[in-house]
Amino acid sequence: MPPPCSRCTSQRVIHLETARKLGTAAGALAGSLKGAYASLNSPSRLLATSALFPLSRVATAVMAATSGGIAGAAAGHQMVQHLFPPGEGTPWLCWGCGHAFRVLN
Ligand SMILES: [Zn+2]
Repeated sequence: MPPPCSRCTSQRVIHLETARKLGTAAGALAGSLKGAYASLNSPSRLLATSALFPLSRVATAVMAATSGGIAGAAAGHQMVQHLFPPGEGTPWLCWGCGHAFRVLN
């Protein structure tokens, strides 16, 4: 049973772990898309070899998407971590007003 928000008394609060997963997933997705897009659209020296080996271009995009996803996931994780004040207790995030707070068990 989640505690009510300490600011707006809304019951719509989520646990930090859930917020972190959401942030990580969103960050990974954004990072992947960005990495793949940048790789496919950047005028790179790979172009010459890509003409001969089109698959290598796809492989480069996949690799960029993977690394971008990891970076994005890390960024999303960091973002959520920074949302919460340091301290003891279980961290919660309010959907209603965006207030982050901790509740001591
Ligand atoms: Zn609230």
